[in-house]
Amino acid sequence: MDVDNFKHKKSLGQNFLKDNTILDNIVKAIDLKENDLVLEIGPGQGALTKKLQTKNVNLICYEIDERTKPYLEKLSNAKTEIIYADFLKVDIKKDIEKYQYHNLYVIANLPYYITTPIIKKIIDSKIDVDGMLLMVQKEVADRFGAKPKSKDYGSLTIYLNYYFNITKLFNVPASCFDPAPKVDSAVVKFQKRKEEFPVINEEMFFKLVQDAFKQKRKNLKNNLTNYDLKKIESVLTNYNLSLQNRAEEIPIEVFIDLANKLN
Ligand code: SAM
Repeated sequence: MDVDNFKHKKSLGQNFLKDNTILDNIVKAIDLKENDLVLEIGPGQGALTKKLQTKNVNLICYEIDERTKPYLEKLSNAKTEIIYADFLKVDIKKDIEKYQYHNLYVIANLPYYITTPIIKKIIDSKIDVDGMLLMVQKEVADRFGAKPKSKDYGSLTIYLNYYFNITKLFNVPASCFDPAPKVDSAVVKFQKRKEEFPVINEEMFFKLVQDAFKQKRKNLKNNLTNYDLKKIESVLTNYNLSLQNRAEEIPIEVFIDLANKLN
């Protein structure tokens, strides 16, 4: 198949990266070693895959669109496995178990229509990822790294920041893709968070966060009516906060402390 004849499917988020410098900068942003295992989601025509192969890492690529086979089959080798499947349906644990590796990374120029489901799948599969480098829509990148008191700070921010330290590395203009998407993009780095603030009961922690953000305009007192408000108030006071504050003003560490004290 000729590269130029490929009909990009908008419904699959097929905006292929054509800017060589950006591709180089993605691969440079992480210190890959030969004995690492990298999962790439959506290799497309293999632009990023080829760059990853220069690091001689073990690579598993998940691509839903079999029309990319003529491009990807050329890249398949002893260290590169291509799996044609919907990433949201695969059993990642099973796929990686035959590999022996040092660090596990996910590196991808994501299909934007399923950014959050992909990240949630990775976290929920408990595969112990050391880091991720993800190209996402710029606005989404801002939400991932949002700080308390900003409009983008929400329960998703807390969920992701609980597992990872998140840094936006650089913006990528729409013109770097073929075809150019309607939105600008950004590359975001996720680094596994060390257990600085261990949560005693994760289920309880996530429920508390979700309840606190239940009605964004309401304060904690009104969103957390089913909780021991006296206990909550006494923890909040230690941080110069109170039940009058809204969830968007509460840093993740305070939520962790609250959940642990309520447990
Ligand atoms: N990595 C290539 C690049 O940088 O040029 C392509 C990136 S493109 C933004 C997203 C890719 O994800 C497309 O190749 C698309 O077919 C693939 N894709 C879309 N949905 C997918 C899914 N559910 N599972 C696996 N791949 C998917």
